[in-house]
Formats: sequence, C-alpha cells, structure tokens
Amino acid sequence: MPGRASQANVTSITEATCKGGVPYSLGAKPRGRGAMKYIDEYRDSRIARALVAEIQRRVTRPWVLMEICGGQTHTLMRYGIDELLPRQVELVHGPGCPVCVTPLETIDKALELASRPEVILVSYGDMLRVPGSRSDLFRVRAQGGDVRIAYSPMEAVRIARAHPGRQVVFFAIGFETTAPANAMAAWQARREGLQNFSLLVSHVLVPPAIRVLLRSPENRVQGFIAPGHVCTVMGYREYEELAREFRVPIVVGGFEPIDLLEAISMLVTQLEEGSTDVENQYARSVSREGNLPAQRIMEEVFEVCDRKWRGIGAIPQSGYRLRPAFAAWDADRRFGLSTITADEPAECISAQVLQGLKKPVECPAFARRCTPENPLGALMVSAEGACAAYYHYRRHAAGE
Ligand code: SF4
Repeated sequence: MPGRASQANVTSITEATCKGGVPYSLGAKPRGRGAMKYIDEYRDSRIARALVAEIQRRVTRPWVLMEICGGQTHTLMRYGIDELLPRQVELVHGPGCPVCVTPLETIDKALELASRPEVILVSYGDMLRVPGSRSDLFRVRAQGGDVRIAYSPMEAVRIARAHPGRQVVFFAIGFETTAPANAMAAWQARREGLQNFSLLVSHVLVPPAIRVLLRSPENRVQGFIAPGHVCTVMGYREYEELAREFRVPIVVGGFEPIDLLEAISMLVTQLEEGSTDVENQYARSVSREGNLPAQRIMEEVFEVCDRKWRGIGAIPQSGYRLRPAFAAWDADRRFGLSTITADEPAECISAQVLQGLKKPVECPAFARRCTPENPLGALMVSAEGACAAYYHYRRHAAGE
C-alpha cells in the first residue's frame, strides 16, 4: 500500500471551508506562501493532494516527525492529515499545549487563591476545567470563589483598578506566545503603582523542552515542526542552535492544513537528503529575529528560571518568572504559595504522550475513565490537548 491517503479525507479539507483554490507550483523547496492570500487557500484540497503526492514521491524510509504545538495537533487530527500521509511518515505529538504542561501544584495554587474571599482570580477560560489534585476552578467558582475569565491580562488590570478593596490575581500561563502580554500587564501595574494586582506566573519555553526530548535515550523523533506562534514572537535563531547541536531538521510551521502538509514535505525532503537545517514554512508570520519590541518587554519583566512541566518534570532554564524588580506583583510571594506541591494521578500517561513515546489511544483510561467531561489529565481538557484531539477525531482508533 503506497500510503494511507483516502479520497474522503482529501475531500474533507475542501468541503470544510474551501471555495476555490489558487494555482500552486510545487518547487523543490517551496517557501513562504507569498502567492496565497486567503484562509481558504490554506485548506485547498488540490494543493493538499499535490503535497501528499510530493511526500509520497520523496519518502523512501520510515521517519518520525513531531509537531510541537497543540494547535497544530488539532489541525492534523481534524483534517485527517495523519491518515493521508504515506505509512512511512509517523506523526507524534509534542509538549506544546500550555494548559497541559502547567504543573499540578500551580493549578492547586490557583485553586487556593480562588478560594480566598479577598481574591478575584482572573484566568484564560480553558484553565477552569483543568483538574488540580482535588478540584478545579469551575468547582471552586460554583462554591463561591470569584473566578473570572479574560482574554487578555490587561482585563485583569482593569478589574484591579475597578476593585481597589480586592486582590486581583491573573493566572499567567503559557509559552513565549502569551509572555509579552503578561509582561505588559506587570509593567503597567508597576507603572500605576497598582497594589492590589499580581500575577501567578507559570511560563514555559519551547527550546529547552525540545533539548530534553532529544537527549532522552528513548527519543524517536527525527524532525520537528516548530511552533509558528512562539516563533512569531521569538524568531527561530534558538532553533538553529538545536538543529546544529543535535543534527536534526526543524521546520517552523503554521496551523492550517496546507501549512502542515508543506512543513511535513519540507522535513521529509531534508531527512531524505540528509540535511539538518532550520526552514521557515510560516514566513507570512515569522521572521528569523521575531518580534523585537515583544522580546524587549519580556526581557525587562521576566528572567529565565528552572520550571516543572506537568507530566514531564523539572527542566532546567525552561521557564520565566518575574524579575526581582517586579516581586511586588508576584502572587507566589504576595500570598506565600511557594510550598504547595502535588503529584500526578498514577493512571495518566501524559508524560509519555507529551514526549511522543505513546499515543493517547494507548492510555488505558482514554475515552473510558478519562473523557472531556471527566478528565483525569490536562491533555483531555485543553482545546490544544492531544488526548482531547484524539477523543474528538480518532476515538475509532481506540475501538470506541
Ligand atoms: S487519556 Fe486522560 S489519563 Fe490518559 S494520558 Fe490522556 S489525559 Fe492522561
């Protein structure tokens, strides 16, 4: 069998949203998508078929590729891209879901804060259902905790201004992508001398996690699709160091089906040719240097620190914390939270899923004791979690 591509899956890319494609010429190394201007074009079935055919033509051996970002995982599952690829190309899913890797004890800290009558806890919406060791923020809210959903940390700053008699804490999680906005909120609070605002910070950084994966004796990954949103902020110079150090090809990829098929095609081409370069498929958003003003505000507010990742454990120099100059806006210090610790449920194999060692359907609890309604682990909760993606789009693989 030359591949697993099915007409149904290719057609579904078109039927989902496509109103018409544009001519697309597959060059030896297509870059940048300068010819495509509209979202439909990134979901065009003709382009998808051409890219799948190109991958089939090039591949001669088995390769294991990892997409880092949970948003990319969901696109791959939703559009059936994994099932379109030749059988030699295996996709495994990386640790790039920020909700999924936020440590259990950090969730427990948020739960403790939200239970305090003087506190308004402000959070991104998908953190509310993430289970801590005993509860989640939805339940704490149902029991009377003041938990509010925001789309930006600056909303939390506005709430703090409006409620000077309450303590407002923003739950500042995420990768490099959300760090600039969170840094801006801390900077603004200090500028205004806002005494009733603080941040519960649990930022994580992608390159140290890739380094840990590549150093693991169990590693199977031979090429990476780097996260386009993170690289929009940070650029991709750090990934050039990784590619040199570990002799591994890396392609910065976008989030639409054609983005991902093209990134896979570029990786397969490199692997077949023996190249270990960093290439930028997502050139419409990412530059090598990244967003320099965003990097400056992050540098002013945050410093790099060791960070524990849910399911993976502590990774040296893999997170951000507030600099001493912003200590007065650090919820950990203000509320004395730093001694809270917690263990993962033994049943959850998220560590192996996040490192690409197992697929969600290999977890005995998948779709049985662990569902989006009753999640055991964060990977089943988050809109970007790999287990949630498999639950929505691949339950048949678990015999459900
Ligand atoms: S299915 Fe549930 S228990 Fe299993 S790894 Fe995923 S989140 Fe954890």
